[in-house]
Amino acid sequence: MPETKETFELLKSYIEEIPVGLMLFDPKGNLISWNKHALFLLEGLEDDFKKNVIGTIGTQVQEIISTEIMKEKELVGLTKPLKLKKIVASDKNIILVISEIVQESIAEMSHELRRPITNIKTLAESLLLGAKNDPEISQKFLEQINGEVDRLAKLVNELINLSKIRAGKLSQVKKKIKLKTKVDDAAKSVKGIADKNKITITNEVPEGYEVLADPEQIDHVIQNLIENAVKYSPENSKINIKTGPVPGSFQIDDTGIGIPETEIVKIFERFYRVDRTRAKGSSGLGLSIVKSVIDLHGGKIEVKSKVGSGSSFIVYLPDN
Ligand code: ADP
Repeated sequence: MPETKETFELLKSYIEEIPVGLMLFDPKGNLISWNKHALFLLEGLEDDFKKNVIGTIGTQVQEIISTEIMKEKELVGLTKPLKLKKIVASDKNIILVISEIVQESIAEMSHELRRPITNIKTLAESLLLGAKNDPEISQKFLEQINGEVDRLAKLVNELINLSKIRAGKLSQVKKKIKLKTKVDDAAKSVKGIADKNKITITNEVPEGYEVLADPEQIDHVIQNLIENAVKYSPENSKINIKTGPVPGSFQIDDTGIGIPETEIVKIFERFYRVDRTRAKGSSGLGLSIVKSVIDLHGGKIEVKSKVGSGSSFIVYLPDN
């Protein structure tokens, strides 16, 4: 058939774009090929995928390949829950399909959504049962309900953002971006709450300074980091945004409440909040999204903080 070669090429390009991780092994268990989504899920880079990524999960991969009865396996020791599914082709080559285990995150998210709903229900019931007759108590309960609704709204927004970022993870378009403008836009969007708390935001990024990033995704990063700086700073604080230590980097410095050293690694985990009681309009999702975006850019984020003095979030973006 004349179109066979073309059809094959077309199929190959589809396999490259398909949003499921695929790895192809020969019958002896040697990795022959993989697609883009496998690199993404296993957080690998094209150059060292075989050596480093497969190296770290090599034993688990060989286990599913070599055991005839094992068709599926959950990978352990990774940052996200992943499973492997084995397909043995007619030529005895083996395809491993890598996918995310979603049930766990859905359960986790439902749990987080249920908490504010339960609190709102309890407070509303108390008001209905008579607390409404006491003006002081009803004022307090209504304020709490308002705070819980803020948190719920933030959670839902962040979940939408998370799914958008996940959906767009393979269609990232990096451009040279004027950082100063992006920072100005983000600062404008938090102006209301910053002014209310007499917090000054200074944008020290030079006019011509550029970073290479996906415009929409980097908006989200800058916005989130500035929003946090405002949220976790007391009245009369100062927030400063400037270029970082190397080209392509920038940092957001605040003089806010700071983060204890032992908590710094945890704040990028989904739903983690240092002080749950203080968290108004807080989802614990913001920084996990920020980190996913920066990871997708091949960059990194660093935090320097001192309790009571303030925090610095430094973002490094590569220039290619
Ligand atoms: P959220 O702010 O919605 O709770 P994040 O994922 O953005 O979620 O942040 C996680 C936690 O990290 C926050 O709950 C807070 O305890 C801490 N944190 C983030 N940014 C700052 C900051 N600039 N200063 C102090 N603590 C912060």
